[in-house]
Amino acid sequence: MVSTFQFSCIQCATAARSVNATILGVSSLRKVLVSACLLGKSVRYDGGSLRVHDQIIESWISEGRVVSVCPEVEAGMSIPRKPAEIFVGSGDSVLDGDTDVVEKGGNIVTDQFIKGASIALALCNKFNIEIAVLAESSPSCGSSFIYDGSFSGKRNPGMGVTAALLRRHGIQVFSQHEISDANKAIVMAQNI
Ligand code: SF4
Repeated sequence: MVSTFQFSCIQCATAARSVNATILGVSSLRKVLVSACLLGKSVRYDGGSLRVHDQIIESWISEGRVVSVCPEVEAGMSIPRKPAEIFVGSGDSVLDGDTDVVEKGGNIVTDQFIKGASIALALCNKFNIEIAVLAESSPSCGSSFIYDGSFSGKRNPGMGVTAALLRRHGIQVFSQHEISDANKAIVMAQNI
């Protein structure tokens, strides 16, 4: 089954976040969404993590900037779970209903991946987040590369479902290999 999902335009989403922040008096401290596995939480499909030891992330944590999310677990998927890949396409194709996310063995989990992405987006809206650091190559969190759907270890350029949804709503998505760039974006946003 292929799922379809509708989204508002980037300009509308950005304007809405700004208005919400003003009306609700949201703190001016810029928060950042970070993949839970990068923070050392054992939420990956194999029960492990991808903990990143990085001074910038440590600073963000001590400043109270970090909002953690694992889209797949938030969507109700188990730990451990079967590995999943996007079948011929990217996160955008999944959001457009043109392809599916498939577990090894053939079970289609598209709906769970879209649900997890929407939960991550809701967190961004709640905390007025405009910058995310997500784990590279994941079918949810990958921002530059994803596995090609053959479960052979081959990666192609592309985004996971959560990264694609966040970018559609104007959120800047970086990987764990671009943390200094994410920090520059936070500093710029903080000074606006
Ligand atoms: S890459 Fe994303 S979906 Fe996968 S375990 Fe990490 S936080 Fe969860």
